[in-house]
Amino acid sequence: MLQGRAALVTGSTSGIGLAIAEALAGEGSQVMMNGFGDADEIEEMRSSMAKRHNVEVQYSGADLTESDQIEGLVDDAVSAFGSLDILVNCAGIQIIAPIDEFPIDGWDAMIAIHLSATFHTTRLVLPHMKERRWGRIVNMGSAHGLVASPYKAPYVAAKHGVVGFTKATAIEAGSWEITCNAICPGFVKTPMYDLQAEGLAVQEGRDVEEFIQEQVSTRHALPRIISVEEIAGTVLYLCSDAGRSVTGTTLSVDGGWTAT
Ligand code: NAD
Repeated sequence: MLQGRAALVTGSTSGIGLAIAEALAGEGSQVMMNGFGDADEIEEMRSSMAKRHNVEVQYSGADLTESDQIEGLVDDAVSAFGSLDILVNCAGIQIIAPIDEFPIDGWDAMIAIHLSATFHTTRLVLPHMKERRWGRIVNMGSAHGLVASPYKAPYVAAKHGVVGFTKATAIEAGSWEITCNAICPGFVKTPMYDLQAEGLAVQEGRDVEEFIQEQVSTRHALPRIISVEEIAGTVLYLCSDAGRSVTGTTLSVDGGWTAT
């Protein structure tokens, strides 16, 4: 489906981003991976993905809190592939604390990685998409881009910002057949979710698995956690012909969380 296309997926060394990179490569797209982690493990992921799907896969360790490194990331992807057709902004972090105790550098990092980096990658990639008169931009929102929870105020603020930025991008870019949408997942089984759930369960002196089941079934109408493959499948839909008129919107993959 995506032969001849080139994609940049931020935050693709783990969790949702890694599944999206795999899915795009599986459809024949070239992929620029990005994110942190153990160098040998990342090289193993990169080379195995390239081999299994017979596509070019590159990796950049650019830190998305630094705008000059984001410029380097986009330049490297364009040099490697000739252009960029698909941009998935997926990198993320989570910090949980009350507003009046929230670390200031935590707020700065949250806004930088989720929101400012999305602005930077988009502004740098748009000229290449406009030139080819085709583009798919998918921003990783969250149920927290639509509703709030306590102790996640900077995350909620950043994700609401991502949803607003998604709408503005869609309106500006539509004339070039470029779509921009935000996927808003509920709880997805990833290292980020596990870390967060473990921390909260330990804090409350609870069994981790029991805590996860209770948290998920309290928020989701479908009382189960979501898989990374379900989010990757939604990205593929948005990149497919069937999704070509979907733009400027949020796609909730949240088990019914925001239906209430
Ligand atoms: P994860 O921790 O498994 O992956 C996060 C990725 O972002 C990693 O590759 C990490 O290296 C990268 N990253 C973090 N800081 C970075 C930086 N400064 N520069 C470059 N890369 C950086 O997390 P995940 O759960 O897969 O989350 C992916 C996205 O999905 C995030 O935007 C998150 O907010 C969103 N999301 C997750 C859930 C969930 O329940 N897991 C729910 C809704 C939304």
